Amino acid sequence: MNDKFVYAPGPTSVKENVRLERAKATTNPDVDEEFVEFYKNTCDKIGKIIKTKNPVYILSGEGILGLEAACATLTEQRDRVLVLDNGIYGRGFKDFVEMYGGEGVYFSDDYNKAIDINKLKEFLEKDHDFKYATIVHCDTPTGVLNDLSKICPMLNEYGIITVVDSVSAMAGEDIQVDDWKIDIALGGSQKAFSAPAGLTMVSISEKAKEAMKNRKTPVVGFYCNLNIWENYYENKWFPYTMPISDIMGLSKAVDNILEEGIKNVLNRHEKIANATRKAIDEYGLELFLEEGYSNTVTAVKIPECIGALKLKSHMLCKYNTLIITSLKPYDDVILRIGHMGENAREEKMVFALNIIDNGLKDLGFKTDNELIRLFNKYLKE
Ligand SMILES: *Cc1c(COP(=O)(O)O)cnc(C)c1O
Repeated sequence: MNDKFVYAPGPTSVKENVRLERAKATTNPDVDEEFVEFYKNTCDKIGKIIKTKNPVYILSGEGILGLEAACATLTEQRDRVLVLDNGIYGRGFKDFVEMYGGEGVYFSDDYNKAIDINKLKEFLEKDHDFKYATIVHCDTPTGVLNDLSKICPMLNEYGIITVVDSVSAMAGEDIQVDDWKIDIALGGSQKAFSAPAGLTMVSISEKAKEAMKNRKTPVVGFYCNLNIWENYYENKWFPYTMPISDIMGLSKAVDNILEEGIKNVLNRHEKIANATRKAIDEYGLELFLEEGYSNTVTAVKIPECIGALKLKSHMLCKYNTLIITSLKPYDDVILRIGHMGENAREEKMVFALNIIDNGLKDLGFKTDNELIRLFNKYLKE
């Protein structure tokens, strides 16, 4: 099971020093106050990466837990919630809103570009009576990146709390939580952080905290209630036993990012993503998006006569390489090239692109080009 070469937009490859960190002996995270300091320190380091002074928490459960927890803690019966929808994750947020009794209202836009800021502005001028809004930073199945620097301040002006799913962007794309007025920012360990799956990171603004505390009705559930984290540090008490080995691994992954420098990390993603997109284009394939490309994942249209699913199974059979298509309805249309975190490395991309090139040609794709040659050409530009 573990001998395959996996090239996916998460979970991403995990560096050896992160894997080894998780193998170390641990203390008891329930009673050892040193662990509380370690946890807080790790949260503060994540705060640095996402540029916030808001408290950050690490929850035990992968990315989806954060999405559900934000909705569970904010939503009361019949609250109106604005759901920004230009992708599959964006659209799916409504399920969590309604599971907890809210009324989700869609603002929908084209799936092949970033949300049109002017359209959103016009929408909000007519209707802005929302308790909070959900926004996906990078909608991973299509790789579209929404401009939080414009969307979140605009929502903030109307007093709408912003809940941002940045699971597949955080640490690979810039996110400035404080300057962009993001009330709740959500990340996951297994994407650009390049730590193993299993942890959610969440930052909570004062405004969001007030809204969550001033509910008229109690939050349904415990694990998804973000209020339980509020005084963990003062009380030296966690709501449940923290997965200490996972957090030690994440902390090492965060150190890797800080040692490289967040700016360098973001530049590396940009360089790799740019070269990938240009190479794909010149190779003769089409990108799914017209604009709004995320530097963490590239969605490529696979010609109908080949089909993304057939390409995927061929790659696994012949090259022992697991590549990823997209979610329905794009599962047979889009091949996703994930280049986030430790996967955004030249040597990994060269390997992946070479195999994709071979796979496509095996299945009859006609081109005189080679993906690697093009990738290398554009990487040097
Ligand atoms: C990966 C991801 C999540 C986490 O969900 P899983 O599918 O369970 O990994 C949430 N939001 C986005 C945009 C993601 O890419």
